Amino acid sequence: MNPTIEINPLVLIVSGPSGSGKSTLMQRILDMDRTMPSVSCTTRPRRATESSWKCYDFVTEEQFEAMVREDEFLEYARVFGKHSYGTPRKWLVQSRETGKDLVLEIDVQGAAQVKKKLPEAVGIFILPPSREELERRLRGRGQDAEEEIQRRLAQARDEIQAFGKYYDYCVINDDVERAGRDVQAIVTALRCSSARNRGRVQSLLTSFGGKG
Ligand code: 5GP
Repeated sequence: MNPTIEINPLVLIVSGPSGSGKSTLMQRILDMDRTMPSVSCTTRPRRATESSWKCYDFVTEEQFEAMVREDEFLEYARVFGKHSYGTPRKWLVQSRETGKDLVLEIDVQGAAQVKKKLPEAVGIFILPPSREELERRLRGRGQDAEEEIQRRLAQARDEIQAFGKYYDYCVINDDVERAGRDVQAIVTALRCSSARNRGRVQSLLTSFGGKG
């Protein structure tokens, strides 16, 4: 096959309620070769658990507003009505320059905006096995006050309601190893889809003297 045929890398949206384990599953996708993360900007303060690895670009409200004015975001939203989060466009540019599939861990509002701009983007929704298990995980993290836990549970209900609108795949995270294999299988299947490989197959066919 002709390796020089150009196809846009995948844009993968990973969403799910807080506590569904979506960050871990996003990491499983990033463990695959030819993938890269989108690092979001946020005005939320850094948590103590976030000091050792880079998951966000923490910015001030003023910096965030300036980025909005300069149209630097592919999407942005106010999450939990409190802090702003946004996906800088630069990651999409970098993904296209390097040919790496781009993985966005964003909320449902962000997914709606990305799907509108890039209809070919693929949405993967991560679900907890039950409401009780989600609540147990949120409490177990010990990072949020009671009010915040209740807010996240209410938000989970709203997000699950929006599932049918923007998502192509659903993975239930009852066993992180199996769910990890599931998300990797989704990416592998997408990479092998006939729609994405049409150009390559055509080129191969031409080398046989065939016509499309
Ligand atoms: P957390 O504050 O717990 O890290 O994230 C809160 C929520 O914001 C999660 O649902 C997460 O997926 C979402 N989020 C993180 N980055 C972005 C982003 O760039 N855009 C949008 N729309 N949501 C984001």
